[in-house]
Amino acid sequence: MNRRNRSLCGLLLAVTIGAHISTLDYGPFTWILLALQFIAYPQLIYWRALRARDQRRAEMNNLLLDGLFFGIWSAALGFPVWITFISLVTVTVNMTVFRGRSGFFQGLSSMLAGSLLAVAIGGWHFSPATGWPATLLAILAVFLYILVVAENGYARAVKLHETRKQLRVSEQALKRQLDEIGVLQAQLREQANRDPLTGLYNRRYFDATLERELVRCTREQQPLSVVMIDIDHFKHLNDNYGHPAGDAVLKMLASILEGQARASDVACRYGGEEFMLLLPGVPAAIAQQRAEQWREAFAASVVSYDTAQIRSTLSAGIATFPTHGAVAEELIRCADMALYRAKTNGRNCVVVAAEAVALA
Ligand code: GH3
Ligand code: MG
Ligand code: MG
Repeated sequence: MNRRNRSLCGLLLAVTIGAHISTLDYGPFTWILLALQFIAYPQLIYWRALRARDQRRAEMNNLLLDGLFFGIWSAALGFPVWITFISLVTVTVNMTVFRGRSGFFQGLSSMLAGSLLAVAIGGWHFSPATGWPATLLAILAVFLYILVVAENGYARAVKLHETRKQLRVSEQALKRQLDEIGVLQAQLREQANRDPLTGLYNRRYFDATLERELVRCTREQQPLSVVMIDIDHFKHLNDNYGHPAGDAVLKMLASILEGQARASDVACRYGGEEFMLLLPGVPAAIAQQRAEQWREAFAASVVSYDTAQIRSTLSAGIATFPTHGAVAEELIRCADMALYRAKTNGRNCVVVAAEAVALA
């Protein structure tokens, strides 16, 4: 209950009781008490509740005190039906609004307690009838009171609706943000696995994938080839045409490897001008054929940089699971040795590890 409603309620009760007692033989003391109770007192307890540390608790106590006083008034006036009825309605409904069914019983008890107190002090008398002005005012009071309660209920429902709407908007915004975060996380994961210059997978990703694919190929008894590629005389190329031109050549080789890769292949930049290809399910002979195709394609390509037309070649070393090794380190070491042999053989060629071992 807010101050406006409480004051209105008090005033209506005061007018109704006033209409009732004006027809009876009550002295000025009763009128003063009436004014104090229903006009001054509601303001006083509102002021007290405002200053309370726990305002809700203070308001509850105020409602119970209302019940007590209304009980006293009802009993003191001999339980006029309409006045007792509107007192009971306001006290129990107010308490029910705040505390549900237990509030109803608390309100009822407080009013009963007030009545018993008044009967104990002033004795029992019973005159239930009210004149028609008091009856009409009581009906009006109940009607207005119900309207006030309904209006409060409506205001709360509107507020709840608004809050739910805002909550839905916030939920949608949160969902959008979560989606964006999900996309960003996926991008970050992808970036963490990629080489920024060429867009190929990086060494980290290659190492993890090799381990994983070795386990799978062992289980499925399939071969797995690794092809280690190194650009020939890349240092000279950088020296002659400059570092950016060297970068353009790296990108061109990357696009050849990427363009000719199959779905299961993993092409990566292993470091500097070294590239690695992981070919699951591919035996050494096929890996060699494919490496030859890459070598030829690269040798036939020309990178235009400024006015220069740059040509380059590559060497490749191949090692195949399980022939040349059962674990990653062994395979990479064998591929490296094969690559070294390709370099010492005059570059621009592909060497399979077995040959490297045979030649060594
Ligand atoms: P070899 O035929 O024996 O492989 O000779 P090489 O000159 O290619 O070999 P080396 O390993 O001595 O040189 C590799 C060069 O690659 C040296 C380095 O400056 C260059 N390099 C490494 N990373 C990059 C890069 O990201 N961009 C460019 N442009 N050059 C790079
Ligand atoms: Mg190198
Ligand atoms: Mg090199």
